[in-house]
Amino acid sequence: MKLLHTIAEVRAERDKLGRLALVPTMGALHAGHLSLIDAARRRAPHVAVSIFVNPTQFGHNEDFNRYPRPLEQDLAKCQSNGVDMVFNPAVEEMYPPAATDIVVDLPSLSTVLEGKHRPGHFKGVCQVVAKLFNILRPNIAFFGQKDYQQLRIIAAMVEALNMDIEIVGCPTIRDADGLAMSSRNAYLAPEEREKALSISRALGIAQGEFRSGVRQTNRLLTTMQKVLLEKHLMIDYVAAVDATSLRPVEVINAPTVLAVATRVGKTRLIDNAIVEP
Ligand code: AMP
Repeated sequence: MKLLHTIAEVRAERDKLGRLALVPTMGALHAGHLSLIDAARRRAPHVAVSIFVNPTQFGHNEDFNRYPRPLEQDLAKCQSNGVDMVFNPAVEEMYPPAATDIVVDLPSLSTVLEGKHRPGHFKGVCQVVAKLFNILRPNIAFFGQKDYQQLRIIAAMVEALNMDIEIVGCPTIRDADGLAMSSRNAYLAPEEREKALSISRALGIAQGEFRSGVRQTNRLLTTMQKVLLEKHLMIDYVAAVDATSLRPVEVINAPTVLAVATRVGKTRLIDNAIVEP
């Protein structure tokens, strides 16, 4: 496995490879990330993983500085999961101080849900992913449905800019108790983790109501809010949106995302479930 820190090194190495799959990450790898690597291995002979905590997608009062960076452990996981190349650039490599600023934005998708609560977040995500795509030139790239809005925005960016890259969404991997795996779960104290379980519980109960025939989203959202409020979680939003346009849905007659964002103590957690009639 090659560990590369500069764009020049990646370009030289990339030229030697044929079809390449990319899994972009911020590191602190868990089984969710490893499932993307696994999916990537099944679709391409070579797999690259980027590990980069991207400053431009964090707000000023967010957790950029304290975000976990266990690089040695991450590299061991990449190695044992058959990754060919890890790209781990310094911030200055990706964003030289003298570089001209550039914004890639898809406002109709980036200003709702997470975008409303984290202004500028998806501009940072699109900026870094577009750069990673140009640096690594993957044929196919893998993203988790855990960050559904991000997956949808990247797919839309690739389509809008005619990037010749297949975007694949992978299912959310959960701990045995239902909590969606996230690098940020490491911030949770045991009693916070217990509270956080009501997020997946709320989604599960709403999915059950959907399966038993409920199509009015206000009923599903009320159920979810109730479950979350029982544990006194701070709700940023609970929403039902069209899986493609991310516009609010009142009656479900097409694939719809039930999306939750909450704060448990200082930790912000998101999760979602897709319901399809
Ligand atoms: P991150 O390192 O948090 O930026 O995530 C890197 C990639 O892993 C993104 O495409 C995420 O959506 C994906 N991911 C994060 N958590 C999970 C999970 N629990 N299951 C599946 N994919 C995930």
